[in-house]
Amino acid sequence: MARAVLYGISVSTGIAIGKSFFLGRAPEFIPHELITLKRVEVESARLQNAINQVIGDFEKAKSQLPDDLTTHADVLDSHLLICKDPKLNGAALRHIRQHRMNAEWAVEESVAQIAETFSRISSPYIQERMEDVRLVANRIIQALLGKTSPGALGSERGVLLAHDLTPADVIGFSAKDIFSFAIELGGKTSHTGILARSLSIPAVVGVSGLCRNVENGDLLIVDALRGIVLVEPSEAELAEYLALQHDFEEYQKRIWIHAACPAETEDGQRIAVLANIESGVEAEEIIKLGGEGVGLVRTEFGYLTRAKSPEEEELSSAYMALAQRFAPSKVTFRTLDLGAEKFLMGKKRLEEPNPALGLRAIRYCLRHQHIFRTQLRAILRASVHGNVAMMFPLISGLMELRLAKSILNEARQELAAADVPFDQNMPVGIMVELPSAVFMADVLAREVDFFSIGTNDLIQYTLGVDRNNKHVAQMHHPLHPAIVRAIKQVADMAHKVGIPISVCGEMAADPYCLPILLGMSVDELSLAPQAIPAVKHLIRRSNAEECRKLLNAALAAPTTRAINNMARQAAFARFPEDVPFFVSQLSVDL
Ligand code: PEP
Ligand code: MG
Repeated sequence: MARAVLYGISVSTGIAIGKSFFLGRAPEFIPHELITLKRVEVESARLQNAINQVIGDFEKAKSQLPDDLTTHADVLDSHLLICKDPKLNGAALRHIRQHRMNAEWAVEESVAQIAETFSRISSPYIQERMEDVRLVANRIIQALLGKTSPGALGSERGVLLAHDLTPADVIGFSAKDIFSFAIELGGKTSHTGILARSLSIPAVVGVSGLCRNVENGDLLIVDALRGIVLVEPSEAELAEYLALQHDFEEYQKRIWIHAACPAETEDGQRIAVLANIESGVEAEEIIKLGGEGVGLVRTEFGYLTRAKSPEEEELSSAYMALAQRFAPSKVTFRTLDLGAEKFLMGKKRLEEPNPALGLRAIRYCLRHQHIFRTQLRAILRASVHGNVAMMFPLISGLMELRLAKSILNEARQELAAADVPFDQNMPVGIMVELPSAVFMADVLAREVDFFSIGTNDLIQYTLGVDRNNKHVAQMHHPLHPAIVRAIKQVADMAHKVGIPISVCGEMAADPYCLPILLGMSVDELSLAPQAIPAVKHLIRRSNAEECRKLLNAALAAPTTRAINNMARQAAFARFPEDVPFFVSQLSVDL
């Protein structure tokens, strides 16, 4: 393809240079050939070899899953099952034998027939499984055409491209095979982006024109510092980016040296910096990066690739192992935040007109209490070493909180009756993610042990901006005056009642927002582990008094642009040599 510069939103930092590979993209040209009788055996053997190659790729990816990600092998297992399913490969063989089609055509025809059958069932779950069938069939056709798979790109690992990726797709990646990805859809706080950060691979989402402008095998530069994808760059651009990549890596090494030191401003304000965990992040890695515990475990990611929700025994031993690895540091489990775009694989999805406003998070748990109770018992059991905290997501008001707490109490009583030990004093908090929780913060604060502000959702619901929608991505802005005021109000209320407050949305990792949060004296930040060294480095170079002045100016400012400008000016003045490497998702295009 020709040279092109495409713009998107950086969701996981770094610079990657490599060959592109489209996940499951249908090859542009599928040869259709009527074969002679003599070629029937040859085509049948080609088909079998291609299927075996794809099975081999999936099995390899599965065997490379880190130990703590093995539950996610389910995604790969379902793809393996499709590869081996006679509905696909048996039908393709029949097309070769009976209709004398070449192998690529035979696979294409089999998929069309399966799609025809599935199209009569209007279940979103079935439609999604159909997408899996297409993805597997495309891999088989690509293998027949001799096209590479990401794992087969050899020493040049691929830049994976797709129209969209679900959180479950990302979990299924083998980090050994890909080192960057870019997708056409998605917003900065989409869960797909959050997972990319947890894999530490440069990733850009919401890239308009990606599928149109890139072909398999094109050379790409993914500039996830600025959210740019360069297709077939010039020699000069390549040289410039190799230099930038080098400088960025050197900068990262420099800030990592002091990652273990506490985060305290130059005038003595201490703030705890903890990690968010989605899946598969090693405790050792987080501790090396300077994480002082875990401020948010997004527990639902352990459920997403499963057909059935896990049993209590399995959950409690996984939670216990996590808590033990961090003890005595704190591990905060967020109870299931299923719904919106996160679903159990085997469950039929509800048809909801507005899923983000629907049966999500605590509402889902209160409706499916058996799943909720199982998880609560598992978290309680893991609390036995005294370093576990728990919080409910998306609490909208006091009645909901009280209902959740009463179910928690019943779980406590059940365990006590069965002589199962747990921490009677396990702190229980809520995520403040809805405007209603902000308005009710004074009331809610008296009934919980801590607040944690989920800014991704708080911004979405306060500003009415879909966090996954690239068309309004620039409006999902943490420095909107309403957001700054809302967080300040919640922080003040928490401090008045005497409970700690944490910020665990993506805003907590944004260098331009950091001084504002420091100005509010939040007690804790919880962020993607990879961002911890940079955030701690900036905190140590900050001045709390100066941050309070910046906050006061922001609280008096009428527009996002005004606050954005003052935050940028403050950063340029205080951290001039860090700004070029800032990983910020703040839009300047206001
Ligand atoms: C948030 O909403 O800011 C948050 C931390 O939760 P999640 O991103 O998982 O919805
Ligand atoms: Mg949230």
